Amino acid sequence: TIGQNLQRTVERFGDREGLVVRGQGYRATYRQLWDATSEVARALMASGVERGDRVGLWSPNRWEWVVVQYAAARIGAILVNLNPAYKTAEIEYALAQSGTSVLFLSRAFRQNDYVKMLAEVRGRCPDLRQSIVFDEPDRPGDFASFLRLAERTPFAALEERESSLQFDDPVNIQYTSGTTGFPKGATLSHDNVLNNGFFVGETMRLTENDRVCIPVPFYHCFGMVMGNLGCTTHGSTMVIPAEAYAPLLVLETVAEEKCTALYGVPTMFIGELDHPRFSEFDLSTLRTGIMAGSPCPIEVMRQVASRMNMREVTICYGMTETSPVSTQSSTTDPLEKRVTTVGRVHPHVEIKIVAPETGNVVPRGTSGELCTRGYSVMLGYWNDEKSTRAAIDRAGWMHTGDLATMDDDGYVNIVGRIKDMIIRGGENVYPREVEEFLHTHPEVSEAQVIGVPSKKYGEEVMAWVRTKPGATLTAEHLTSFCSGRIATFKIPRYFRFVTEFPMTVTGKVQKFRMREIAVEELA
Ligand code: ATP
Ligand code: MG
Repeated sequence: TIGQNLQRTVERFGDREGLVVRGQGYRATYRQLWDATSEVARALMASGVERGDRVGLWSPNRWEWVVVQYAAARIGAILVNLNPAYKTAEIEYALAQSGTSVLFLSRAFRQNDYVKMLAEVRGRCPDLRQSIVFDEPDRPGDFASFLRLAERTPFAALEERESSLQFDDPVNIQYTSGTTGFPKGATLSHDNVLNNGFFVGETMRLTENDRVCIPVPFYHCFGMVMGNLGCTTHGSTMVIPAEAYAPLLVLETVAEEKCTALYGVPTMFIGELDHPRFSEFDLSTLRTGIMAGSPCPIEVMRQVASRMNMREVTICYGMTETSPVSTQSSTTDPLEKRVTTVGRVHPHVEIKIVAPETGNVVPRGTSGELCTRGYSVMLGYWNDEKSTRAAIDRAGWMHTGDLATMDDDGYVNIVGRIKDMIIRGGENVYPREVEEFLHTHPEVSEAQVIGVPSKKYGEEVMAWVRTKPGATLTAEHLTSFCSGRIATFKIPRYFRFVTEFPMTVTGKVQKFRMREIAVEELA
């Protein structure tokens, strides 16, 4: 189980730094981290949390997040990761849907006053019987007093509980990002997430000497599994910049903490590379890291490998429902493969690419829906048998909804989401391909391509473009840049210049929101 694994890490690397949260000035060795989780675990038992009970956690990244996560796992509770960007309707849905009985929360984050929002929805969350607000330096909450309950649970009781747990017990309900609509609660076991974190760390060759900068949110599997469990299974140090993401804080953290690995979604890396003060920071300690979560532009990968010194950078592909990683490039793959593909299938997992209509495996190089099977596939969507059956077939294959190709050597390319594919006058346009092309323009910082309704063609191609500082790009200029270089039907009919994209808190561009905005504007 997760608890046993952490204990083994403490036995081997107890005196090494386990967790650093710079925003809070927090530093703990693995042994201190273990002791902190024991205290929270005993306090949770004293307040009546049983095996299988849901414990919610609604907070941006802070040290308490990690401690509560391990404490809940050690007593067999199911942690419900709640998105820090949720507003009242979403938090009510998640708390009620998961039947959360105990909730840990921050007081506030960005414009969100969690305490106030919780008060509004509490009456409609019948299972919720206790909430514990984290302490702030200037405003104490309930956490310190909650910890005093720990003394009522003897250590022996905690040990007895821990030894009763099974490897395939559910340990987590993780809601998906909400990139394509309403988030779904993927139920994951110790087996699912612990193994996945372990193999992610293996693929990057993490050791107790690695210091991994994790600016991605813990509430999401990228932060929690690939980040946090990837580190704790290898004795590496988790280094958290701050509650809120900012490119400058990441650059500072890597330089000052001498990080050896860095995580991020593509947009984060772009923000760091483009930062006006980029060259002031010494990033020479970096070796590896992960870009994942959405399509990773080749040009950005190249720059990460060269300008950020991440020679062994890897790309992961996966989804919350598969714990999350299904494919990853390995640090030993040739650089060219590492920047242009999402790598090969992860250990002990199967993947296949099928024609969505027939379900038959397609020839190598042909695109189809990626399906995956193995230990990493979730137990199911929480309390949603119907959606589970729609996603996982009877033979155990998870249908991802992503279009992919596989080459003769097994390297996978993600072509796009089935839902995002544009059909213009009968021709398939893969947004990814157009985006990659636009990224080759020196004044383009980021491009996102969507389909918008058209009477004539069914759909038209639209590109949203964020330009580099000082650029003077126009739509006409970009049109002529495309002309003669990509097929006419792929050339965006509309260009829209923006300074930001609608995003999930995990940093993913919400194309369904872009479409809504575009449709309104074009009307
Ligand atoms: P929702 O399911 O709620 O709409 P989501 O699918 O974005 O949101 P996640 O589980 O966080 O929620 O993300 C998984 C998806 O992210 C994958 O299905 C895939 O579309 C995309 N993705 C992940 N990694 C990559 C990658 N390396 N390249 C391209 N796309 C990726
Ligand atoms: Mg999804």
